[in-house]
Amino acid sequence: MAGKVYLVGAGPGDPELLTLKAHRVLKTADVVLHDELVGPEILSLVSPTAQVQNVGKRCGRKSATQAEINALLVNYGLLDLQVVRLKGGDPLIFGRGGEEIEALRKANVDVEVIPGVTAALGAAGAAQIPLTHRGLSSSLIFITNHHSSASDTGDWPASISPTATIVVYMPGYAYAATARQLAAAGLKASTPCAIISQATRPEERVYKTILEDLHSAPRLPAPTLLVVGEVVRLAKHASPREQFSTRSIEAFLPLVAPSESFAHSQGNTENSERPE
Ligand code: SAH
Repeated sequence: MAGKVYLVGAGPGDPELLTLKAHRVLKTADVVLHDELVGPEILSLVSPTAQVQNVGKRCGRKSATQAEINALLVNYGLLDLQVVRLKGGDPLIFGRGGEEIEALRKANVDVEVIPGVTAALGAAGAAQIPLTHRGLSSSLIFITNHHSSASDTGDWPASISPTATIVVYMPGYAYAATARQLAAAGLKASTPCAIISQATRPEERVYKTILEDLHSAPRLPAPTLLVVGEVVRLAKHASPREQFSTRSIEAFLPLVAPSESFAHSQGNTENSERPE
């Protein structure tokens, strides 16, 4: 009898953001293959009799190649085993989940996807950035700065609407180049942005700036996300280096319900934490 492979999202870090379904399959899995981003609290939920294998990279260790991971999943899946492939965030967002599903389908192995809270949602929630907002942002772009080959310069959109929110996964530290790409796509130099490091974990840090100053942002510890767009003005963390005035947001206020807009303009000026 063939087993089954569950592609499971572990969420952005806080173990309490794991879904009940993910928790259930972790407790009963025979084999768990996980990425580096999955923390020890979540791994402690796995049954002590399960075989647990880290197939991620870091700390100088070489990671398994995607082909090796696909082969492991197929081989375990063809046995009568419950296999969990555990990934940070959601398995289908910048997680190569699609490639794994394809390999398993080809081998006729049963697959089920258990979604997770993707890092963008964890980070936005932690910093209290509404990713969409009536009057400020009506579209959301998830993009990555990291590409499969060094010669690949990426797929930045040629033009980005000023009413879009952009979340850059794996932003790296080449902030000047990233800011240039965003400016080339039409974003104003005054567009607010936030770097959110280790979102939803105890070490979480948020640094707010504007596009033209992004080049001088500190290198916060990985994993980090870059959120760009007018909605970043509404983030909980304000830094003394924040150079954008609340005036430009007032231009949008007639589009927002009066109670909402008042709360936002108050919140934005009261809380001025030091940049980290
Ligand atoms: N599948 C994952 C993304 C994997 S790509 C998801 O849905 O979240 C890995 C990238 O995700 C990291 O380089 C970083 O940009 C982002 N990331 C993951 N966890 C994060 C966290 N806790 N805080 C900030 N960024 C995070």
